[in-house]
Amino acid sequence: MNNNFDVIVIGSGPGGYVCAIRSSQLGLKTACVETRDTLGGTCLNIGCIPSKSLLHSSEFYQKANSEFNDLGIETGKIKLNLSKMMSNKSQSILNLTKGIEFLFKKNKVTQLHGKGSVLAKDTVSVIDGSGKKISYKTKNIVIATGSIPTSLPGIKIDEKIIVSSTGALSFKKVPKELVVIGGGYIGLELSSVWKRLGSNVTVIEFLDHIIPGMDTDISNEFKKILDKQGINFKLDNKVTSVNIINNKAVVDFTNNKSKKRERVECDKVLVAVGRKANVNQDVHELDIQLDNQKKIQVNEKFETSIKNIYAIGDVVNRGPMLAHKAEEEGIAVAELIAGQAGHVNYDVIPAVIYTSPEVAMVGKTEEQLKKENIKYKVGKFPFLANSRAKVNNETEGFVKVIADEKTDKVLGVSIISAAAGNMIAEASIAMEFGASAEDIARTCHAHPTHSEAVKEAAMMVDKRPIHF
Ligand SMILES: Cc1cc2nc3c(=O)[nH]c(=O)nc-3n(C[C@H](O)[C@H](O)[C@H](O)COP(=O)(O)OP(=O)(O)OC[C@H]3O[C@@H](n4cnc5c(N)ncnc54)[C@H](O)[C@@H]3O)c2cc1C
Repeated sequence: MNNNFDVIVIGSGPGGYVCAIRSSQLGLKTACVETRDTLGGTCLNIGCIPSKSLLHSSEFYQKANSEFNDLGIETGKIKLNLSKMMSNKSQSILNLTKGIEFLFKKNKVTQLHGKGSVLAKDTVSVIDGSGKKISYKTKNIVIATGSIPTSLPGIKIDEKIIVSSTGALSFKKVPKELVVIGGGYIGLELSSVWKRLGSNVTVIEFLDHIIPGMDTDISNEFKKILDKQGINFKLDNKVTSVNIINNKAVVDFTNNKSKKRERVECDKVLVAVGRKANVNQDVHELDIQLDNQKKIQVNEKFETSIKNIYAIGDVVNRGPMLAHKAEEEGIAVAELIAGQAGHVNYDVIPAVIYTSPEVAMVGKTEEQLKKENIKYKVGKFPFLANSRAKVNNETEGFVKVIADEKTDKVLGVSIISAAAGNMIAEASIAMEFGASAEDIARTCHAHPTHSEAVKEAAMMVDKRPIHF
């Protein structure tokens, strides 16, 4: 193999593999290095895909147990086969990771297996599993090494009793008692999975609300829905220690306001308090600049402090740690390297929580707008008044459209609904094109669909809904 490349991408997550494919499409000779045996990074192997597989299966299990009968579907006794559910998850991962291998071949991306290190701005070494090291010359390097889970001081993740999301995606048995530290999207998605499969779940969250960063309206409504589903919440509480005694975890926590101390004993503890940038040793050795959160600092062209070394995805200091943000950056950086005008609009990056119902948002929240002193108007439409949601027995939640008070331009949309994850794309497109609430209100939406609630919420901005 000729060891000279135009672009070497380190990491094959959604940032890295997309960047490699786009670079190759643009005529750049491209290689992608990955330490894992399979491509696709955190997202495909231990993140988005396995979590969505378990959310999907566990939702059917729960529905078969509690809803099918009401729909006239009579079954025998429903029985959980967890190992089969896990095999189905593994098969989905395998199919998708193989799919990226296929895309690499199709797009002529060279796949390098091993640990990649940047030796200099034009040299990357790859050490494979047997310790063999090969150096490659390249004109450009893209670091896409992603992120890893963090823990709390004094709490050591062993992936047996005290687990990260990785461990919680592969329990061999349904834990009787599961404590989840952290009420963000990863904690709540996995709480939902195990609650549906039979665990008693307690979520301990330091803040006085769940899903920080989302609209308070949405966060309050979502909490009520999860309460009804039987998830226990201990908000405004700080976990002070987790100890393992006789194969059980003992979790101590203290209320931030009352200072009341509590203790729960459980079979498993999921630590879901966030993720940190996976900054490899080479980045430190080359003195590539990091921000104060120890993420690689990049400019609007994804350039690090060293020329021709770029960085994208979870490892950088821009945007949320989400797969689709990483993908957008992968495309943009490839286009910039090829001399085109790659760009990412960080104001329009949707975020979705794939629980039941789903929660989705794009753009600004009311709280952000208040802080920024921007005057706005709000239209809110409940799914109780949406015909499709009603026939499907999915009436929880609402759509909330926030528009500029003067110009009517859509500034943010939040949705709680069974179909929120797909519906948010409409809001994203509207915002990307600078649409007004009136534009959405005057767009014909198919009937009967959940999406009609987006139109009605947009009409509600002008206080003229039809169905409410
Ligand atoms: C449980 C869970 C659920 C999630 N669900 C969602 C979701 O539903 N939607 C969503 O948008 N996001 C989700 N995420 C977040 C998403 O997975 C990340 O934002 C995304 O994977 C980041 O992509 P990336 O390319 O930056 O890095 P990663 O996907 O982390 O990939 C980085 C890759 O680089 C490799 N690597 C690191 N160092 C080296 C090296 N030196 N040499 C070679 N290879 C190296 C790693 O092995 C890894 O494969 C979830 C995350 C978790 C943990």
